[in-house]
Amino acid sequence: MAISPVEQLFTLFNETSVALQEELSCTYLEALAKTGENLFHNSILQEELSELTVKRLKKQYEGMNLEKFTKEQIRKAYQLAILKGMKEIVQPNHQMTPDSVGMLVSYLVEKFIKLQSFRLLDPAVGTGNLLMTVLNHQVDKKIESIGVEIDDILIKLAYISSNLQEHPVEFFNQDSLEPLFIELVDAVISDLPVGYYPNDVRAAEYQLKANEGHSYSHHLFIEQSVRHTKPGGYLFFIIPNGLFESEQAPMLQEYLKENADIQAILQLPLSMFKNKNAAKSIVILQKKGKNSSAPKQVLLAQLPSLSNAAEVNNILRKIDKWFDENKR
Ligand code: SAM
Repeated sequence: MAISPVEQLFTLFNETSVALQEELSCTYLEALAKTGENLFHNSILQEELSELTVKRLKKQYEGMNLEKFTKEQIRKAYQLAILKGMKEIVQPNHQMTPDSVGMLVSYLVEKFIKLQSFRLLDPAVGTGNLLMTVLNHQVDKKIESIGVEIDDILIKLAYISSNLQEHPVEFFNQDSLEPLFIELVDAVISDLPVGYYPNDVRAAEYQLKANEGHSYSHHLFIEQSVRHTKPGGYLFFIIPNGLFESEQAPMLQEYLKENADIQAILQLPLSMFKNKNAAKSIVILQKKGKNSSAPKQVLLAQLPSLSNAAEVNNILRKIDKWFDENKR
């Protein structure tokens, strides 16, 4: 059986990462970042390698011409290699956004954002997988995007991913809840880190700070994102299902009433989550502005598994109908 382009490329990422990992005694993800840089620069940047490894890497790189692959093929192969590397580290909040969620967010961004040219922010960009998926699906649009991430290895993987897929993205390696020196954006997408934010001093600068103890970082991320969005701009968040049910939820409701209109809450299929308590939804907000208005009705839906074509079609029709009634 012929191997697919994604498999071919994965094999290249994987074999060259393993070679670099062994020789440089680093993690697989660090080695993947290095091989990605080599591929992008078309040269071997690690000076400490043995002659034999250099020769081997050169041969493998030369056998593969990245130009013959689509951006989505590159993203998928790179994503498979990241998944392999992530097995070495266990950190639930570092998880890459899965493809099915990325596809849904891409579809929703395309539906809601009609601008030909716009600014897009992901304040928890991680490996960049969600951002790249969205960028790869916005055809003929000019998008200036910004990614912020606190983890230095993840942001490195993200910037290499954007280089290999030729998306110009501005990256900031920092805590997104510290001041962000960026101009306002038209849209935000983010798979939010969920949990407590340890920096109470910084949290005190947010309306959504907890009255006692640590604040929820996902709440602060929502406030920070709204702050950096233009009036009338849209925000697409992946949030825990219980967002509006926690003990701090009344504050969030109050904040949203003043600052943004909830457009839609779409529950992701439970089958996507090993643990039902970790199940998530996509929430879409519109920052209040002169020309924005609350929808007549918030779009509420339970999304079916993407493998169920008939049910997916039903939901897409429901979304289209909601658009006709609320957004035209
Ligand atoms: N969409 C990303 C992807 O496709 O790889 C995954 C996002 S992951 C669910 C959440 C990310 O938020 C993690 O990469 C984590 O390191 C980052 N994060 C957590 N707290 C942060 C903070 N205060 N500032 C910036 N990034 C943060």
